[in-house]
Amino acid sequence: MYILYIDDSGSISNPNEEYFVLGGVCVPERSISWLTRQLDELAETLDSANPNQIEFHASEIFGGRKPPWNQFKNKSERVDIIKKSLDVLKHANSDTVAFACAVHKASYPNRDLMKIAFEDLCSRFDMYLNRIYHEARPQYSHKGIIVFDKNAYENSLQSLLIEFRQQGTRWRDVKNIREVPFFVDSKASRLIQLADHIAYSVFRRYNAGDITYFNCIEDRFDTYQGVVHGLSHKQFTNPNCTCPACITRRNHTTSQ
Ligand SMILES: [Zn+2]
Repeated sequence: MYILYIDDSGSISNPNEEYFVLGGVCVPERSISWLTRQLDELAETLDSANPNQIEFHASEIFGGRKPPWNQFKNKSERVDIIKKSLDVLKHANSDTVAFACAVHKASYPNRDLMKIAFEDLCSRFDMYLNRIYHEARPQYSHKGIIVFDKNAYENSLQSLLIEFRQQGTRWRDVKNIREVPFFVDSKASRLIQLADHIAYSVFRRYNAGDITYFNCIEDRFDTYQGVVHGLSHKQFTNPNCTCPACITRRNHTTSQ
């Protein structure tokens, strides 16, 4: 079983932001404890007395306004904490991969951006599971489930989930993802906290041109035969975009 933990970054309704991002990490069942332990150990280095009180939330860490992050007075210290959280992926098994969809809001006027991003991620996750089944690790169960941060999605995804249940839409085509998504409290799940950091990294990459965090995870997006399938840049403004998602697809298409 593979679990895709998803969180969002950016606000759909905020006119000052150009992008909305859904992103996260796909973790095989056997790696959940190990990956969680890596983040627990990082939390212990920050607050040895109460590591469970440490909740990694990238934008709050960067902001440094709320406890415990306000005790780290230097911005560089807080940036380092975000990067260390992302660095836990460096030693993870190769089938622990990142997924993200960055939607350029102005390219999709009057469209449901959450639905666009969610369907895109579902289809990429399913494609990954399908590849595992056919090629990579047939000895493992290749089925998947999706876990969301409860706070971010409880309201906005309710109607979408009802639609998926009643009408199928993409879910009908998706063969390997079981059931409907689960919602968990980010406080209780280190891996939702890691998903938050991945979504934040991608949001900063596209919305602000800041690659500080994206550089930590760029090589962890699902990649197959030279194409970065795990990252999607949905936009109609720049046909020559050189981001890893656009350029590898373009190169792949022209080389065929
Ligand atoms: Zn691009």
